[in-house]
Amino acid sequence: MSEPTYIIQKSLTGKITVYYECSACKEGLANPLSKAGESDKCPVCEGVHMVPGVTEWEGVEAQRIAAIEDRKAQIALGVEARRAQHAAEAEARRAAQNAQWHYEQAELKLSAISWSGTAMSVLGGILFVASIISFYTSGPNDLRGAITGAAEFVAAAVFLVGGGLGSALTKILRQLGERK
Ligand SMILES: [Zn+2]
Repeated sequence: MSEPTYIIQKSLTGKITVYYECSACKEGLANPLSKAGESDKCPVCEGVHMVPGVTEWEGVEAQRIAAIEDRKAQIALGVEARRAQHAAEAEARRAAQNAQWHYEQAELKLSAISWSGTAMSVLGGILFVASIISFYTSGPNDLRGAITGAAEFVAAAVFLVGGGLGSALTKILRQLGERK
């Protein structure tokens, strides 16, 4: 049974039809291309024949499957790209939070040093005033008043130097931190 001559036409709606003649009675016949390769019976002479267009139908099917595979691959690529982007964003957020935490810790230490320096300076100032008062209120033979005044003066000097160092250290550390 030789395959008859045929033509294939695609309608505007995408329906593909194969047109051919009955090899026995030459009646014009038509089948959907999806029936290609199946056997059919001529309605006029009742001769059994195979619907032609197997190669074309296989090509149509191959294209359809390729399009589906292509779409699947595109979706997979998109999913992968989004996943990578989300991971990069999460990593950037973590890095920013980490940097912020380190900055806050450094700032806490700096303000502790700064506060200590200020407190020492204030205490030194009070002790200095107290030492002046002790010196002025002690009489010429008041050994105890002189010792108290001297002790207060030394303590005032220690606290003022300590306070000054604390303030200087805060300034230096802050400038070092800003330079980073
Ligand atoms: Zn026929």
